[in-house]
Amino acid sequence: MQALVKTEAGPGLRLVTVPDPEIGINDVLIRVHKTGICGTDLHIESWDPWAARTIRPPLVVGHEFVGHIVEVGSNVTGFGPGDLVSGEGHVVCGSCRHCLAGQRHLCADTVGLGVGRDGAFAEYVALPMTNIWHHWPGIDEEVAAIFDPFGNAVHTALAFDVHGEDVLISGAGPIGLMAIAVVRHAGARYVAVSEPNAFRRRLAERMGATLVVDPTTRDLSDAQRELGMVEGFDIALEMSGVATALRAAIDNMAHGGRIAVLGIPTGEISLDVNTIVFNQLTLRGIYGRQMYETWYQMAVLVSAGIDIKPVITHRFAYTEFEAAFAAARSGDSGKVIMDWSQS
Ligand code: NAD
Ligand code: ZN
Repeated sequence: MQALVKTEAGPGLRLVTVPDPEIGINDVLIRVHKTGICGTDLHIESWDPWAARTIRPPLVVGHEFVGHIVEVGSNVTGFGPGDLVSGEGHVVCGSCRHCLAGQRHLCADTVGLGVGRDGAFAEYVALPMTNIWHHWPGIDEEVAAIFDPFGNAVHTALAFDVHGEDVLISGAGPIGLMAIAVVRHAGARYVAVSEPNAFRRRLAERMGATLVVDPTTRDLSDAQRELGMVEGFDIALEMSGVATALRAAIDNMAHGGRIAVLGIPTGEISLDVNTIVFNQLTLRGIYGRQMYETWYQMAVLVSAGIDIKPVITHRFAYTEFEAAFAAARSGDSGKVIMDWSQS
């Protein structure tokens, strides 16, 4: 099959022919239709320090996908050829304390699809049956292709009850953009979005933000004043991974405010712990999605009419992967989709 492979330690990816994945008795083989490019794929492509520490080439990259099942192992029940599916990209151990308790998102021994095992930027991908999400009828395939990052958005946006609350979202990348639609649907009052990129600020408005600010020219206290807020944000979703954004969120919370931290910083961040203590703030780290409560919530949100499609701004054939990665890297994009169905 054709696959996008990190063939050796260093920058770049190569489109090469590799053997089709083999499946075990508990696995499912999927013909990939569409994939989404994630920041993780960009890190692996550019071979930054995280990638150099983490990735062991050769590796098929990619983890956001939709496709149909072509083959199942002899132990597999509940799925069959033809089913339209996506995959939970965190393959868990199944035997640690948290896995045994049904808290699989807390597994300490998680292996990432396209990170620690061969991924989905390929014509075929294999996964354990316990990692398969069977899409509900009628789903748009492009939306299905980005259920993985949509799950990050939903898991973070619903980490705290936003109903009637004033919400700050820092970072309007694909995940922040989807989170806007989720918190609006979940009944937030104001949704203020902070994002330095003008293209993404426009998308944030389209996704239903109440107020969109450029943090390089305007601070959040000013945004609060424009909205007529007096006590600070009740909930913040940190979706940039940038130190100044996390500090700005902490400085602009109401007493008792809650901050869900999804953004992954490149290094340590120093924080004013006094503000966290005296303002009685909660900071909660969010990783991945809940298996499978978040997936269920996503399916329900889509069937209830939430529209995340405007987040998809670019579409390429997989053979144009270089242009696809350049579009994703440019920042003047939302989610970038590659199509694998034409091969
Ligand atoms: P992204 O990099 O496309 O989006 C981040 C956005 O933050 C960009 O649009 C950027 O312009 C903006 N930004 C930069 N400086 C800012 C500032 N000072 N204030 C506000 N915004 C600022 O990433 P994404 O794919 O949307 O993912 C969002 C974040 O979540 C990233 O940090 C990513 O690494 C992380 N992530 C975490 C998980 C997890 O499981 N915890 C999963 C996926 C992604
Ligand atoms: Zn485990």
